[in-house]
Amino acid sequence: MKATAAISLLWQLLAFEPAAVSACLTAAEMRGENHISVLHRRQRMHNLTNEGTIPIGVGDRFQQGTVLPVGIGSQAPANLTTVYNVVEIESATRSLVREYNLQYFETPFKTYENATMFGIKIPCAATASKAASNASYTVLLEAGIHARERGGPDHLLNFISDLLWAEGHGTGLIYGGVEYTAAEVQKARSVGVVVLPLVNPDGVAYDHATNSCWRKNRNRASASPNDTFSIGVDLNRNFPPAWDYRKTMAPGTTDAISDKPSEIVYRGTAPLSEPETQNVAWTMDQMPDLKWFLDLHSMAGMMLYGWGIDTNQGKDKSMNLVNQAYDGKRGAIPDNRGRGFVYGEYYDPEEYVAATLAATNVADAMLAAGGRNYFAQQSAGLYPAPGGSSDHPMFRALSDPAKHKWANGFTLEFGQPNEKAECQFYPTVEMHQLNMMETGAAFMEILLSAAKLS
Ligand SMILES: [Zn+2]
Repeated sequence: MKATAAISLLWQLLAFEPAAVSACLTAAEMRGENHISVLHRRQRMHNLTNEGTIPIGVGDRFQQGTVLPVGIGSQAPANLTTVYNVVEIESATRSLVREYNLQYFETPFKTYENATMFGIKIPCAATASKAASNASYTVLLEAGIHARERGGPDHLLNFISDLLWAEGHGTGLIYGGVEYTAAEVQKARSVGVVVLPLVNPDGVAYDHATNSCWRKNRNRASASPNDTFSIGVDLNRNFPPAWDYRKTMAPGTTDAISDKPSEIVYRGTAPLSEPETQNVAWTMDQMPDLKWFLDLHSMAGMMLYGWGIDTNQGKDKSMNLVNQAYDGKRGAIPDNRGRGFVYGEYYDPEEYVAATLAATNVADAMLAAGGRNYFAQQSAGLYPAPGGSSDHPMFRALSDPAKHKWANGFTLEFGQPNEKAECQFYPTVEMHQLNMMETGAAFMEILLSAAKLS
């Protein structure tokens, strides 16, 4: 076998070998089985329940924004044995705002169940707090877009708490096997950060109330009366990149997006049809110099960089997602030249180096923090997934370069499946605390990369 053929075969195996879990979907879900049929089979085989998974918090441990969340990297938190409920996510956010004089903002579009999404702006240390201009914010971090991926908002808020606490006390941070010096904390604080801690408030509230392994939002507009699965849109398939997959992608190249409401990866009725995704896009549009975007997910143990549509190439600038001449050719990995699918997504070589370096640093730090393997790889290497959030900042720069600068997008998949639970996305208390350490190191690395590479 020639080397090129061997590499091609290896790539094929890597790309298509069915893993136990592929970024936010179980292997069975990837085959198109819904989580209830899978769950029933798993229950029958293994007597599974969600017992033993970390419970959801009751009440409000942050007492209406007056008690700070305590991070695992700076202190010894006493309250990491339950997951923050929806009230607590907002309350913890408000307490950070109050303690550190941050700017709290609400996004303009209300969810189907009338929730208001919110975020915080954390100006870089050099800028006088609330006077910071939007242009000084270069990093956007978000969590909670997939409802069942428990712990994401907690990890993000606790990291922010760690970072600001360490800055204020002139100390470093320790996440398991990784130590950051006080100087590194100051370096991480040299970038302005915007945080959206809970992108899918309706979905998370529903998942917490039902333990139903719910992924989507709760929009009922496309739902059929007797099919509870037809409720909701997969928000991470509702962004514009390649959303119109039957046109943009080569036939048969992706099962990771669907136009059927009962599917777990239902894309919605139009790109950005959902208030939640409109709010994310709106937040990005408020940041003229956005450079780094990270969307926090679980539980595949991977740091994914873009693109999520096809393999990357750095030679032909015109071969890209907005060039309609390539419609119908994207997503074949490896390309099938006999059928005319020859396509690679353009990624500026300098930006590519920056993105892959940052992703590698994140994966390495997570491994060092918790001792579990993390891999940095291209998102499309798992499966091509149109409509994803992390491709959006790059896509909007391609679509309208006069208005938007390029920003590198990442999907961070923390944790590992909880094989003993009906819903493998619900960690145990021990897993949750390990996830907290690993994500703390990951957030530090992305900020340090932003500080170094911007
Ligand atoms: Zn996810």
